[in-house]
Amino acid sequence: MSTAIGVVVTQHIVAGRLNDLQLTGDLLRYAAGSDQLDDLAAIPPGELVEILATQIATLAASEPEPVDAIGVAVPGIVRYGVVEDSPNLTQIKGMHLGEELTRVLVARGILAPVHIANDADCIAAGVAATRGQLEKLTRVWTIGNGIGYGRWPYVEGIWEGGHITVSLDPKERFCGCGGIGHLEGIMGYRAMRLRFLDLEPEEVFANARQGDTRCLEFVDLWHRALAAGTASFIHLAGPGRFYFTGHNVGFVDLPLLRSYVETMVRLTPLQSFSLEILPPDDGTALLGAGVSALRGLTA
Ligand SMILES: [Zn+2]
Repeated sequence: MSTAIGVVVTQHIVAGRLNDLQLTGDLLRYAAGSDQLDDLAAIPPGELVEILATQIATLAASEPEPVDAIGVAVPGIVRYGVVEDSPNLTQIKGMHLGEELTRVLVARGILAPVHIANDADCIAAGVAATRGQLEKLTRVWTIGNGIGYGRWPYVEGIWEGGHITVSLDPKERFCGCGGIGHLEGIMGYRAMRLRFLDLEPEEVFANARQGDTRCLEFVDLWHRALAAGTASFIHLAGPGRFYFTGHNVGFVDLPLLRSYVETMVRLTPLQSFSLEILPPDDGTALLGAGVSALRGLTA
């Protein structure tokens, strides 16, 4: 039997134990019931590591079998256990999270290897595992405050799909990273609030449904931007499965999105793509964090 612990750090922290890739026992949550986006962002990095270690230690002690691997999903650019950047969790930027968490865990007698991965990559891994398609290319867009792009199987690289350039308009300047014309600068929640200073994003989508011209034009742009990002990845890595999830996935109109992707992907070998919405679910990323960590043992 393989035993892993998966941890997801996003707006909150969720941790769970996986026996043979099945969640077992209760999920542990930190900042449960709170929706404050900057809750976790305000926690100093050392304290964050302690919180993670405490959750992992609780789960490790919950059953007698030793844990084979520990997987932690965090937003941002993650390579070799280092969080190179994390625009929505700025205090962990540059952090050697893998090493630091390992050190704290070893002091608590937990010796299982720690694997840090991008949160969207973990969702892709979790979806692939759930669907029994771990050998196939699986891609995920996470639609929230920022826009995340994840893929499974893991391939060395940056893969910051949310920052792909989808517009040449110099006025498209709302991306959290400061870059012009970025997908997240159109689709991200923060970016939408900056664009519509008088309306919340939910109101923009609601007004569009009522036929408001300005909001309709934006909702159209929003879907064309997502279609452009998706079409670009189809042209680079081929057709296949794309999943859409995240806190704001409810904004996605799948038939509208599909119609735009179809106008952008015209080469027949590339037209066998599928688009699917997944309700946001911490369990998927948690499972993916565990899958990535266990795969890391054999890689
Ligand atoms: Zn950007």
